[in-house]
Order: sequence, then C-alpha cells, then structure tokens
Amino acid sequence: MALDYKWFEEMEARIPKGEVRTRFAPSPTGYMHVGNLRTALYTYLIARVNGGKFILRIEDTDQKRLVGDAVKVIYETMARCGLSHDEGPDVGGPVGPYIQTDRRDFYGKYAELLIEKGGAYRCFCNKDDEEASSDDKGFAKYDGRCSRLSPEEIQAKLDAGVPYVIRQKIPREGSTTFSDEIFGEITCPNDSLDDNVLIKSDGLPTYNFANVIDDHLMGITHVVRGSEYLSSAPKYDLLYKSFGWDIPKYIHCPPVMRDAHNKMSKRHGDPSYEDLLAQGYLSDAVVNYVALLGWSPGGEQEIYSLDELCRIFNIHGISKSPAIFDIVKLNYFNSEYIRALTPEAFAKEAEPYIRQAVKKPDADIAGIAALLQQRCEKLTDIPEKIGFFDELPEYTADLFVHKKSKSTPETAAKALTETIAMFEALPEWTDTAIHDCLIAKAVELGMKNATLMWPVRIAAAGLAVTPGGAVEICRILGKDETIRRLKVGLEKLA
Ligand code: GLU
Repeated sequence: MALDYKWFEEMEARIPKGEVRTRFAPSPTGYMHVGNLRTALYTYLIARVNGGKFILRIEDTDQKRLVGDAVKVIYETMARCGLSHDEGPDVGGPVGPYIQTDRRDFYGKYAELLIEKGGAYRCFCNKDDEEASSDDKGFAKYDGRCSRLSPEEIQAKLDAGVPYVIRQKIPREGSTTFSDEIFGEITCPNDSLDDNVLIKSDGLPTYNFANVIDDHLMGITHVVRGSEYLSSAPKYDLLYKSFGWDIPKYIHCPPVMRDAHNKMSKRHGDPSYEDLLAQGYLSDAVVNYVALLGWSPGGEQEIYSLDELCRIFNIHGISKSPAIFDIVKLNYFNSEYIRALTPEAFAKEAEPYIRQAVKKPDADIAGIAALLQQRCEKLTDIPEKIGFFDELPEYTADLFVHKKSKSTPETAAKALTETIAMFEALPEWTDTAIHDCLIAKAVELGMKNATLMWPVRIAAAGLAVTPGGAVEICRILGKDETIRRLKVGLEKLA
C-alpha cells in the first residue's frame, strides 16, 4: 500500500511544541467513576500548575452502542467540577478531531507506516486458531506466525480477501525498561509481551494503539492514567520507539479502593460522582476529597479550593499505595463545605431538600436553611430533620421531662400556659420579639431560661432533637401554628 508521506509530515507539523500538554481520555460509560474523576483532576492540575494545556479526548472505539448521552455526562461532570478543558470535541483545538471514532483513518494510516517500519504485521489467523494463540503456560498469547509470512504469501491472502488484523511486532529477545513518575523504572522481558492487535478486522484501532497515536499526535507530554495500564506501558514504549517518537512522562495512579482488598466499582454498588451528588454531597467537597485520595500536599491543611490546588499540585506527592475511599472522611469535608457557603448559596442548595419535607408553598425556606447550615453533613440529611415543620409528629408527655433543664410536667404546664397567653398578645413575630418576651417571662416566673424554653420547643416541634432552638422554630412556624401546637402540648400535660 503506497504511503502518503506528505500527509504524515503535515500531521507531525500540527503538533504543538514547548508546552506541557495533558489529556483526560475517558470512555463514555454514562457515569464518572471516582477513580476516573481523580485521574481527570490530577491531569487537569498538572496542566494548570505548569501553565500548560488540558485536553479532553473521547475514547469511544470500544463502544457498541450510541454514546451521545454518555458523552454529555462527561462534559457536564467536567464543567460541574470546574475542570475546564482547553481543547476537546466541543471546543475544538489544533490537533482534532478529539473523538477517537472520528480519527479512524489516522490509525489505519499509522498502522501501515508501522508495518513499513517493521513494528507491525498483518495477521490472517482467525480467532479459532487455538494453536496459534496459546503459549506453553496456557495463557492466551499469539505465537507470531503471520510475522513470518513472505511478501508473496501476504499478497496472495490479500488478493483472496482473507480478513486480517494488524499486530504489534514485539522483539523476541531483550527487555524493555520504561519509567513512571510514581513507580520508577520498570523492566520487563520482551518475551513476556504479546503481539497485541493494533487494528481490528473492522478497521477500528484497539486502545493499545489508539492511545499511543493520539498521545503523540496531540503532543501529550504527561500521560496520567490508572495503574491498571502499567503492565501495558512497555508495549506502548516499543510502539513509540518503532515510530522514532519521544516518549511522554507516565504517571500511573494506584487504584481507589472500597476497602483493603477491593477496588471501588460501580457494579458492586460503590458510588460514582453522580451518585455522590445525588446522595447530598457538594461537588466542590467531592473534588477536594478526591484530590487527597492518594495525593498529599504535605502538612496539615486539608481544605483546598481548586484554585489553590492549581498552584500547589505536585506529582511527587502522589502515593504508590492504593487509596481507600472513606465515606466518613468525605462527610467531614462535605460538612466543612456546607458551613463555608454563604447563607444564600446554602439556601439555594438546600431548597429542593427542604421542599421534600416541607410542602407548604409559603414556607420560610431561608429561615429553615439557616437552622440547618451548621447541622448537616449532607444535603440528604435535611428532609428527616425538618418534617416537623409541616406536620407535628406524634409524641407523648414524657418528652416534657428533662432533668438538665429542670423541666417537670408541672413546670412545663405552667410555662406553656403563660407562653400561650403572652404569644397571643405579642404584636410582633420576629426572633428578637419572641426571644425577649420568653426571657422576660422566665424572670417573671422565677424559672431558669431552659426550664421555660424546653417545653416550648418540645410542644412546637414534637421532637427531643431539632435543628435550632425554641425561638427560631416558633418564628418559622408562625404565630398561629405555634400557639395551636403549644395548646396541643398543654392538653397532653393535663
Ligand atoms: N479510555 C481509557 C479509560 O477510560 C483511558 C486510559 C488512558 O488515559 O490512557 O480507562
């Protein structure tokens, strides 16, 4: 097959030089695995910390189905996490297209070039050729027989229309050493490597080939990916060498584990990024937590904004050991992020959850949100904490008894009777008005503040534990509803 060398020259000429270029290369699965999010984040941070470019490439050559929606999930997740890409399918760039199936022709042409350079060969064996594809240890491994076909034999098969794949030609002798920024130098004997398929019989590339061609043609300087690709890296090095290309820096990140023995996996019920949002975590908290899953900036600080991470990230802080995803730790990050929001921003995040429990259209959303901001780890904690605003729960009179507040059935009955009368006459219904009159009443009755407040809060909420105290709860309930509930409480004490 005649090669168009000019075309190869043009492709090489497009490659940007002199800048750090990283890429996130997800396959469109429809969700963002926590490990993938971490890869995306580290990839982004390496680009930003070096003033380089962050590229999004969609690796869809293995997909058997339409991937439109799954690609949308990738864009949305990246945008929501603040990982903005400089080049990609949606924003374009100098080395596109950025979707692998749109680059199909490139792989075929480079495979032909590799055949010419002696780094690959056509293989006409079919899948059922068991003899050709098993090694003496019983592992599936191709024995390389088609690499020994003569030019005439190859031509005859091509003329006869025998379908073929293109395989990498791995040297039989020697060893390959490659270097990873986290794992250091790794050497493996070449005879342990398989003559992998590079181009399948349908003309589409395998991941093994496409990632090398794309990383080279996109000028990628740092390849960040999961350590499951570590064992394939020597084969990729051999491809770069066969083409005579520079090898990028490799940063293989250890897996994110559910526990000491198992990787996190969506199939086994572990949450994806989208699941975490649905479970009430804030995106910024997840991103901060994920940044520290297997990377340490050194020192005590744990809360980092994305901007800060863009300044301080350093690949030498990435650990070789697998990281364990700890939901308790994530809860801590989330509550810190919730507290740090402005009251308005929190109310906006909290509103859908407040509305799940409080159906009254005129409910005081901002008021309820203010009660919750310091008191929830996750947004999904909200509904169960505030259902009492809509409906007074069933409760019994023993709730009025509280030792520490010195509240007894008698003091409670007195407190409620007096408070009802006072509230009925109260002209204003604000936190200050309610608070001041309750304090004044406690003085008047010679009661401790707590002895008066306890029964008022119990009667208003019907619960021993509530977000917020008597004053805020009464104010949010409104005057009429508060008085009605205090009367219900009083009846229980009769
Ligand atoms: N498409 C691969 C994946 O989602 C990317 C691996 C890589 O970054 O090279 O696992």
